[in-house]
Amino acid sequence: MRVAFATLGCRMNQFDTDLIRSEFVKRGYEPVDFEEEADVYVINTCAVTVGGERSSRQAVYQARRRNPNAVVVATGCYAQISPEALARLKEVDLVVGNTHKSEIVKLVEEFLERREKKLVVGNVFKEGEVKHFGTVLYFEGVRPFLKVQEGCNRFCSFCVIPFARGKVRSVPKERVVKEARRLAEAGFKELVLTGTQLSQYGWDLGYTLYELITELVKIKGLELIRLSSLHVKELPKKLLELAVKEEKIAPHFHLSLQSGSDRLLELMKRGYALDEFKRVVDYLLTHRPLTAVGTDLIVGFPTETDEDFRKTYEFVKETPFAYLHVFPYSDRPLTKASELRPKVPERVKKERVRLLKELDEQKRKAFYERNRGRELRALVLSEDELLTENYLTLKRKAEAPPGSLVKVKL
Ligand code: SF4
Repeated sequence: MRVAFATLGCRMNQFDTDLIRSEFVKRGYEPVDFEEEADVYVINTCAVTVGGERSSRQAVYQARRRNPNAVVVATGCYAQISPEALARLKEVDLVVGNTHKSEIVKLVEEFLERREKKLVVGNVFKEGEVKHFGTVLYFEGVRPFLKVQEGCNRFCSFCVIPFARGKVRSVPKERVVKEARRLAEAGFKELVLTGTQLSQYGWDLGYTLYELITELVKIKGLELIRLSSLHVKELPKKLLELAVKEEKIAPHFHLSLQSGSDRLLELMKRGYALDEFKRVVDYLLTHRPLTAVGTDLIVGFPTETDEDFRKTYEFVKETPFAYLHVFPYSDRPLTKASELRPKVPERVKKERVRLLKELDEQKRKAFYERNRGRELRALVLSEDELLTENYLTLKRKAEAPPGSLVKVKL
């Protein structure tokens, strides 16, 4: 039997698809490309934006067109959040929530016997521990990504993720360290730690990201540990101090700001005010000047005024971010923000996104200029591409094999 996969959304979903694929392979299924004809199609959906849901439905329609007799499974966050909406699609045979991703092979085989359409979605907040989950390793070329945590306890008012992924669950640090040591022994120089909200790592186990990192930096051969998205309110002082003095921690931190208006940060339930955020950024850049700080910004949050947007624009303009990720707000099911009024008109949102994307271009250029002439460590990604410790991609002939950590001068 041939099985094909489509994955929408974030790296978390990519990890999950890799695990589901390995379960099918264990059962003797042959993985084929999504563009090809298959007997089973698994669409790992996304619900973080309206666009994510739309692309997920399109993948469902494509699968059904490719093989009218195939089993079409919709899983992932959209299935977890809005199972009925997906079940209403005649193209879908099985709707499986994040809670039951580990049972997809069994559910497909039951369907092949009985051909009964089914909806299998549990209460994600009841998840005692993550099913499905040793340390999940995922490679982007020579870069291993280690998923060490899932879920989020924060419930920002615009965010659907806690309802899709549940509360924080972490992999015990002994297992993470064992996997990281195995990677270092295999010659990997850089390791990316990732999760739904990495800075909440260990909260369910009685320790924090700090304890994990102090273990990981002791591993011989592991030269760079890169951290995925962090929340400024979840960075204890000792972790910040470690981040600026420990060479093995990559000087690249993605700190989601979302808005430069304190009024909106309050409505978003982000848990910090602008000056707190600024203090963390200033601390990192003062104590480790080559650091790259990237951020996320939501534009068009309900009730956002011209004045709110001006504050965001001015704050971002004066803060030396290395890059910006800009997202237009969209109402999400189950979230508090979806009840807020008035909504910002789409054309206004579009213009504000355009202005911040323009600023993003300037920030990226300015960050590159700030590093000109600086000597940096860089991971060789391929024969003509390198990634520096502070997250600059360099297109140049590499003097060493992929996976090597070299010194470069910009
Ligand atoms: S911290 Fe991030 S993942 Fe958690 S609720 Fe807020 S935006 Fe969503």
